[in-house]
Amino acid sequence: MSNVSVHQNHCCKLHGCKYGDENCPVVDGTANQAYPCEDCTEVKEQVQELKSHVDSLELSLNMVHNKSKASTTVLSAVEEIKKQIQILEIEIKKQP
Ligand SMILES: [Zn+2]
Ligand SMILES: [Zn+2]
Repeated sequence: MSNVSVHQNHCCKLHGCKYGDENCPVVDGTANQAYPCEDCTEVKEQVQELKSHVDSLELSLNMVHNKSKASTTVLSAVEEIKKQIQILEIEIKKQP
């Protein structure tokens, strides 16, 4: 088990061993993976990106005192992004 850290750095509990090792300590749960793998990162980055979009949009909405026509447009954009986040978060949970 001298190479456990190699698996921890590269393998994924969800997406499997990057070396095809059926005794991968990350996959069998004896070791925690150190980083999300590329597949994990891709979806999670999308969600993080969308969430930060929403945060900054809501922040600027809060600074608008008169809810103008423009902010209504922004509001519906925020709602649209929130829907996308929900869909992506459901996708993440579906992963084996
Ligand atoms: Zn592995
Ligand atoms: Zn993964």
